[in-house]
Amino acid sequence: MEKRGKNSVKEENKQSTTAAVESKQMTENLEFKSSEFGTCENCHTNIKGQAVHALGKTWHPEHFICAACKKPISGQVFNVHDGKPFCEQDYSNKFLNKCRSCGLPIKDVTIQALGANWHKEHFVCKSCSTPLAGQGFYERENNPFCQKCFESQFSPKCAACNQAIIDTAMMALGKNYHPGCFKCSKCNKPFANEVAAFQLIDNEPTCPTCAGKLAPACPKSPDKPAP
Ligand SMILES: [Zn+2]
Ligand SMILES: [Zn+2]
Ligand SMILES: [Zn+2]
Ligand SMILES: [Zn+2]
Ligand SMILES: [Zn+2]
Ligand SMILES: [Zn+2]
Repeated sequence: MEKRGKNSVKEENKQSTTAAVESKQMTENLEFKSSEFGTCENCHTNIKGQAVHALGKTWHPEHFICAACKKPISGQVFNVHDGKPFCEQDYSNKFLNKCRSCGLPIKDVTIQALGANWHKEHFVCKSCSTPLAGQGFYERENNPFCQKCFESQFSPKCAACNQAIIDTAMMALGKNYHPGCFKCSKCNKPFANEVAAFQLIDNEPTCPTCAGKLAPACPKSPDKPAP
């Protein structure tokens, strides 16, 4: 008989999601200003006409370039990493966490679980796709499962009623049973409190009372005379 306490089963497999980590993109707005003087940070020549003011410096608009692809950063928003400007695409590819489910960069909330990063909406039960972010979940082979799916799929099944055994499983004859499901094959009385006393008669578990009726001649029993 194997007792599997409810809590121990759950805690073995349960990992709570870590607090959702805000992964904010550092963005700044480009300032386009007319500048009569000033030197471009890139080419070190004077800027006439339009200048970009960004990162505390001044640039020709065409010289304010992505540190990765070296293309001028178009649009009003850029991303900063290590003090260098990056275009949206390179910043996403280089510095944002990738979702384990879809493989794409995560721009807003990152769920960190099972040693990986996930979009909030992609951290779901492997079986039924219920969202699991912000909830407890169960882990099996490094995949997340909701409680319902985990219990129905991975809990031992009772050999008598074929339902999942969530809390206490009884091991008998190499099989798992609900305590109430492992019964005497003759009188249907559960063995729960006297499981050690059952006997196998014709390969069927039998309680001592029924066994006594069937086989009154037990040589080890002192109060019953040997034949
Ligand atoms: Zn320049
Ligand atoms: Zn780029
Ligand atoms: Zn995703
Ligand atoms: Zn599920
Ligand atoms: Zn059962
Ligand atoms: Zn019985």
